[in-house]
Amino acid sequence: MRPKILLIYTGGTIGMIKDPETGALRSFDFSKLLYHIPELKHLDCHIETTSFDSPIDSSDMDLKHWRVLGDMINSSYDDYHGFVVLHGSDTMSHTGSALSFMFENLTKPIILTGSQLPIGDLRTDAKENLITSIQLAAEWENDAPIIKEVCVYFEYQLYRANRTAKMNAEHFEAFSSPNYPPLAVSGVHLNIDKQLLWKGGLDDHAFAKANPQLTSFSKMIYRPEMDSRVVVLKLFPGITEAVVRAICSIEDLQGIVLETYGSGNAPTISWFIETLREALLKGIKVVNVTQCRGGAVDMGKYETSVHLKKIGMVSGNDITTEAALAKMMYLLCYMPSTGDFKKYFETSLRGEISV
Ligand code: ASP
Repeated sequence: MRPKILLIYTGGTIGMIKDPETGALRSFDFSKLLYHIPELKHLDCHIETTSFDSPIDSSDMDLKHWRVLGDMINSSYDDYHGFVVLHGSDTMSHTGSALSFMFENLTKPIILTGSQLPIGDLRTDAKENLITSIQLAAEWENDAPIIKEVCVYFEYQLYRANRTAKMNAEHFEAFSSPNYPPLAVSGVHLNIDKQLLWKGGLDDHAFAKANPQLTSFSKMIYRPEMDSRVVVLKLFPGITEAVVRAICSIEDLQGIVLETYGSGNAPTISWFIETLREALLKGIKVVNVTQCRGGAVDMGKYETSVHLKKIGMVSGNDITTEAALAKMMYLLCYMPSTGDFKKYFETSLRGEISV
């Protein structure tokens, strides 16, 4: 059996070539992919391509683009064995995180990839990223795809998408996954660590069970809604009461991802705690994530986080800011009741948080 893979081009550097006359970068015609990468013919799978009507730089990604991308995958879900999404690297971790929540009980891989140099550049990293992503999406065992989750593939490593962050704007190794090891490493062989792959979880099923409109939790469920009434508030020494109050009083705000210091620490000054307490009392969800790229929030470890625990803040543990935002946007639309937010946020729904 030759797996069928759908390649979706959303935009970004990977799909560009240098115009030989002007030297400027322009999007290339994706239907001519085989012409630019003839190596693809040798892969043991059948590849079809599609593209956003107007490919975008990933800095322009927003919820309506996530929806278009999600709909593209959902509407062709039964026709392909795997999906490879070509995406600009700048917001790839955000889109990967969002897709991981939008698609519950995935039975197939969705692999996002991109590149630091355009596909037409002599020194491009695009070819390896693209070819290996397709190969990984086509990995097959016991009549089923091996990978059943949303991943990012970049520079010889396959990561769980909702564990990644873009770390470098210069190196080919642009991403890292500080709190979860790579799912696969590409060397002479493609080494997939099957132990680390997402196998769905009881938590996932518990969420489905608690959601009355769901009857089956072994089938893939597509939940495309995301609530954008959220904000990231990053602490810094010298942050003023006026700034924190202004953010907490944004009209109709539903959630704050609070980026704290170290293991979840924040100023102890009374105006700060009071403002957050008032926000929580208004029903705004506040999640504590750390500004550190690696490690986790541990509220109560230091005196400077005891107060956050006391006022009922949600612990983001070792989740990335990217995944915290996507999870918040998702839960605000789909959690069974508003009182369940803390419980579901602190639970691993797609392997995005260690429990
Ligand atoms: N600015 C580009 C984007 O994110 C960079 C890239 O493609 O990697 O779309």
